[in-house]
This record gives sequence, structure tokens and C-alpha cells, in this order.
Amino acid sequence: MKIQQLRNATFILTLGSRRFLVDPMLSGPGKLPAFKVFSRERQRNPIVALPEEAKEALKTVTDVLITHEHMDHIDRAGMKWIKDRDLPVWASPIDTPYLKKKGLKVTALENGAMDMKVELVPTKHSRGLLSWLLGPVTGFYLAHPREPSIYLTSDAVLTEHLLKTLDRLKPDVIVAPAGSANFGLGPDLLFSVNELVTLTKRVNSKMIFNHLEAIDHCPTTRDELKQRMSEEGLAARVFIPKDGEEMEFLPDANPSVIKNLGIYQPTGRFQKWLTGQFAGT
Ligand SMILES: [Zn+2]
Repeated sequence: MKIQQLRNATFILTLGSRRFLVDPMLSGPGKLPAFKVFSRERQRNPIVALPEEAKEALKTVTDVLITHEHMDHIDRAGMKWIKDRDLPVWASPIDTPYLKKKGLKVTALENGAMDMKVELVPTKHSRGLLSWLLGPVTGFYLAHPREPSIYLTSDAVLTEHLLKTLDRLKPDVIVAPAGSANFGLGPDLLFSVNELVTLTKRVNSKMIFNHLEAIDHCPTTRDELKQRMSEEGLAARVFIPKDGEEMEFLPDANPSVIKNLGIYQPTGRFQKWLTGQFAGT
């Protein structure tokens, strides 16, 4: 299994013979609006360009996986890029109607798809009313028969449900958004640094932190995060890739066995509809 970080939550996941482009936000710098609302530090997004390596890496993508339809996970440029190549898109059943309407060739990702064990894990993007307004978000657990298992939390904050799911699934690798993210008012939208420490201590998985230093409302820096993980004695299991960096993970001698795959019940269709009105794609 290979993971190549491109920018923010966008990366390429190589599993078996497939290369999934995950959450493609492909706009050039400043082409998207500011996400921070109540702050002088607000600036147009993304705040950095895609890395040089993206050009070559994108040429060999075979599939696309979209965790939710916020603009920093699928933007207009990403939509166009997918359509121009007519690539198959995978998403949760709650996102497929919207993406289909946008003209993408999308299929709901379910257990057994592409010979993988798949579990969809609903997550909370922020807390309270803000979480509701941001709509339901889905994390994906993927266990390919010849690869390490991986869990993409997608945009989330730490909840008891998420921790219990990890206790059960025991993924070999976890990809989690680490930029904290705040609109300038109200609760954080993503894991805080303290929550990332709690999350990392709870599991034995290798941790990959992304969603960093690319969007104006994500204040946590790679350096700060690296330092904190070292202080906590967790650095050996934590990877904080630069944009363009590629990592390889070899199959474990004892891959985790899944006995109890959860049944995913999509909820919050109205929330999804509402989010779609503002997604700008
Ligand atoms: Zn995001």
C-alpha cells in the first residue's frame, strides 16, 4: 500500500492494482473563497499550490474516493478533472445522489466492493449545532486481502463512537485530518492536537496526519504537531507527510481479521441537501 500526500485532504492511495485519488481539491491557489469567517487572518483558498509531483502522480489514477462533498474535498476543478477522464467514483450512499447529479459516475462503496472488506463509519465534523450544519460525514475502513488495512477517518472530531470503532477494527494505518480548523467562532471542526494524542495512544496503528497548512481555517502546523508527538513518545508511529511525499506500508504478517462489520445506515439527508447548497461544486 502506498500513500502519496498531495495537498490538504487530497492524496493518492494505492491498494493492489488500483490508485484511488482521495478527496480531490485541485484548484490553484486562491481560486476558492476564505473558509475562516470571523477573523482578520482570512484569505482565499487553497493557500498553497499542488506540489510539483502531483502532475505525474495524477496521470496513473484509476479511481476516485470522496469522503464528503465539502469544497476542500471535492471542488469544481476536481469535478472537471474526474469528468474529463471519466473515472469511476466511490462514495458513501449518502453522498452518491448529489455526486450523481453533478454528472459523476459514482457507486456507493459497500462491503465486498473490489474484493475489499469495507466498513463505513459515520463521524462528527465538529460539535453541537455546527456539526449538524456541516452535515453527516463518513469515514472508510478498507481491508484489501493483500494490503495493510486502512481507516480514513475523514473530517472528524474525537467521539466515544470513533474510539470504540477503532478498538474493534484495529486498522494497520489511520489517516486523520490534523489542521484543527475553526471558522473563527464556535467549536473546532477537526481533531485538536490533544485529541490526536488521545487517538494515537488508543491504537497501535501507524498514523498519517494530513489536512494541514493548505486552508486558511486550519491553524495547526506540521512542526508543532511533530514536536508534540515527539514529546508524547509517539513519533515512531506518526507520519506527517509534506505535500508530494509518498509512503509505502507493507502487509502485516498478521493482518487484522474482521468479524463484525457494522451496518451503515445513512441518516441526515436534509443536512446533506443543505450542505450541497453551499458546497459550490
Ligand atoms: Zn476538510
